Parts: sequence; structure tokens; C-alpha cells
Amino acid sequence: MMQTSAMPGPREARWSATLHAADRRVTRQRLAVLAAVEQAPHATADDVAAAVRADLPHITVQSVYVILADLTDLGLLRRIETPHSPARYETRVGDNHHHAVCTGCGRIEDVDCAVGHAPCLTPEWSPGASRMTIQIAEVLYQGLCDDCRPAAPSHH
Ligand SMILES: [Zn+2]
Ligand SMILES: [Zn+2]
Repeated sequence: MMQTSAMPGPREARWSATLHAADRRVTRQRLAVLAAVEQAPHATADDVAAAVRADLPHITVQSVYVILADLTDLGLLRRIETPHSPARYETRVGDNHHHAVCTGCGRIEDVDCAVGHAPCLTPEWSPGASRMTIQIAEVLYQGLCDDCRPAAPSHH
């Protein structure tokens, strides 16, 4: 049976619990931003603002930016940086997964971390380098997706 329910689902309950624990009010704006990012992983702030405005037409882009930054600080969102693109956000946090970006069209795919926790790569320090305690290894795979590959000028 099809049912459209306004009751909060398990993910809203989880988000609310995290917000409460961080002394944040559980607002429609925050939940709408989280839902928008969950629905469109790797969305830019502008994508999120457009999606949220479908439900909350009065929210400003600036508020969306502030909420995204705050939720990222709280660990509910992960912010990723890819070349030639504004920052992107996703709700898949805590698993140290990586990303592959198509240099043709900019599409982004998730790549599972083989190890599952950070850092999954151990640096080979160059001679003379001052060693650091490594916490994160951000791996960005770059290549061409299937849609873009035929257009690549490889036959020239
Ligand atoms: Zn592509
Ligand atoms: Zn991702």
C-alpha cells in the first residue's frame, strides 16, 4: 500500500538526535538541507538551495550556505572539494570513502575506501621531509566517464 507519511523517518530521527546533542535546534531548514543533500549526493550549495526552496521558498541562499557549513562542522555532512567546481556536500560521512571525478563532464562517483578508516594510505616520506602524523589521505581519482570517453580526442 502506498503511503505518504509526514512522520519523521529513521534518518530524521538520527539527524535530530545529532542536532540535539550539539545544542542545535531541529529546524525545518536544517532538516530540509539534510534531506536535499541525501537525495542528491555531491550537490553544490546552489543545488541544495534550489532543492530546499521547492519546500521553503523563503529561505535565502546565504542561510543555506550557513546551514551547510554548520552541519559540516557537526559531522552530519561531508564537504568535498573537486577541481574547477564549488564545494560539494554529501550525507555519507564517516566511512572515509573517496571520489572519482570525470574531467569531461564533472560527474562524481563514490569510490569505497579499501581500508574503511582514515588514513588509508601511509606516506613514503621524501628524504629530508619533516614527518607529520597523518590523519586523512584524500584521494581523488580523475578520468573520463563512459559518456565522455567517445568524445575524447584519443584518435588524433
Ligand atoms: Zn563525463
Ligand atoms: Zn561521496
